[in-house]
Amino acid sequence: MAVQGSCIRLVGTMVKETGFYDILGVKPNASPDELKKAYRKLALKYHPDKNPAEGEKFKQISQAYEVLSDAQKREVYDRGGETAIKEGGSTGGCGGFSSPMDIFDMFFGGGGRMRRERKGKNIVHQLTVTLEDLYNGATRKLAVQKNVICERCEGRGGRKGAVDVCQSCRGTGVQVRLHQLIPGMVQQISTVCTGCRGQGQRLSHRDRCKACTGRKITRQKKILEVHIDKGMKDGQKIVFHGEGDQEPGLEPGDIIIVLDQKAHPVFTRRVDPAGR
Ligand SMILES: [Zn+2]
Ligand SMILES: [Zn+2]
Repeated sequence: MAVQGSCIRLVGTMVKETGFYDILGVKPNASPDELKKAYRKLALKYHPDKNPAEGEKFKQISQAYEVLSDAQKREVYDRGGETAIKEGGSTGGCGGFSSPMDIFDMFFGGGGRMRRERKGKNIVHQLTVTLEDLYNGATRKLAVQKNVICERCEGRGGRKGAVDVCQSCRGTGVQVRLHQLIPGMVQQISTVCTGCRGQGQRLSHRDRCKACTGRKITRQKKILEVHIDKGMKDGQKIVFHGEGDQEPGLEPGDIIIVLDQKAHPVFTRRVDPAGR
């Protein structure tokens, strides 16, 4: 006569507002996995590299995911809505949001801001695959566009010896102006140097490299061979180290391929108990 389900968990959880869930296109009872998947799809679609006009949307997606992917913040949001999050909630968090790019980098494993300064940009690509590809393994060719250091000038931007340090900013690329607010109080204003457009160097038009027009880098198309190993999973990343954007003085970034499994008309993958 045992009554089953003595501990009933409400499935249709009551939430104060659904805005963040709506942005990600999921239901308020979505599992962490569903949230991840929704974020991945949208973040790649609206990334400023692909959709420069959708910066606001990209920001919203990142903010929604930042909150909902954190169990504690999600609870605060479910109870008090966006206002509660902005106020920092009951958990005493600092409130506010991280930068959308940091969320993106964290999600795709691009490393934090510290690493980004010494490395060129990572390029993240989504590769649509079938269940058969994942099951049997496959090799796919993918064309990517990336920045490479100009071969002709070897990243100098011009003829050897023709590059001069900019006199207006002494090579810093920044001009500092002092602006007097009231006698005795000055404000320091830093602006991008107009003489060299922040490059710190000047190059006469004539000496400029013809191949890169002085930009030191050129766009190059590269064909990548992506080996999908047997048993790889939807959302799995394949990293090509050092194949990302090159920039003078920086270590090149990575190309990160994210597998995106197309829905199969008949079969679905059974999730193993580990939940992966
Ligand atoms: Zn060049
Ligand atoms: Zn300058």
